[in-house]
Amino acid sequence: MRRPWVGGNWKMNGVRESNAALLDALAAAEHVASVDTAVAVPAPYWQQSSDALRDTAVAVMAQTVSPHASGAYTGDCSVAMMEDFKLAGALVGHSERRQGVGENDALVAAQFAALQRAGLTAVLCVGETLAEREAGDTLAVVSRQVLAVLELMGAEALASGVLAYEPVWAIGTGLTATPEQAQAVHASLRAVVAAFDAPAAQALRIVYGGSVKADNAAGLFAMPDIDGALVGGASLSAPEFLAICRAAG
Ligand code: PEP
Repeated sequence: MRRPWVGGNWKMNGVRESNAALLDALAAAEHVASVDTAVAVPAPYWQQSSDALRDTAVAVMAQTVSPHASGAYTGDCSVAMMEDFKLAGALVGHSERRQGVGENDALVAAQFAALQRAGLTAVLCVGETLAEREAGDTLAVVSRQVLAVLELMGAEALASGVLAYEPVWAIGTGLTATPEQAQAVHASLRAVVAAFDAPAAQALRIVYGGSVKADNAAGLFAMPDIDGALVGGASLSAPEFLAICRAAG
């Protein structure tokens, strides 16, 4: 039985004042004990978030990470900095980083490795574009993205993190993959990992991301290989995010 994981990705949203309201609501809420919950917040607000959520059930994460320990990497943040602010880990390979900033499979695998070596949680995001889906390439694309980490790190290391299937065409668009579409990809991803290590594949949490909301979460979570969600827009509303967390419990 896999423990559900629900993460909120704030992306580049919020300022100190709006964050305070959201963080206070998350800190005050009663969380479902059976669900792991996290928020991935912009780097300037690591301190604010980590202070507000200290001793709560909600972990704080970063939205990306440098694969390097330190040095001449202007604008990047290291694993050691995340540890300094008591962060639980980071997203890696989000499509907005792959497409907008040019992060590729090799870099994403190195980011995963840097987090894993430090014992932090890496949330590996994979997903196809609409053109790739329409060309029938969905499984080839997501398998390639997962294999980049599997081949570098092995299946057990992958299973120490979380795998997020996020079809690019469903992110921030209001279009959600149907539970059946998402389940088909999740099952295929689990089979890719099982070819390396069957127990690790069974343990791996594979969560869905792409316009998840309170009113579509339960249908997705009812699928056998959907172990939670990575939530973007809806995570900026505490009631909406908390309802999604409850649906995972
Ligand atoms: C995301 O940013 O990872 C995401 C899934 O966004 P949204 O829920 O807004 O589609």
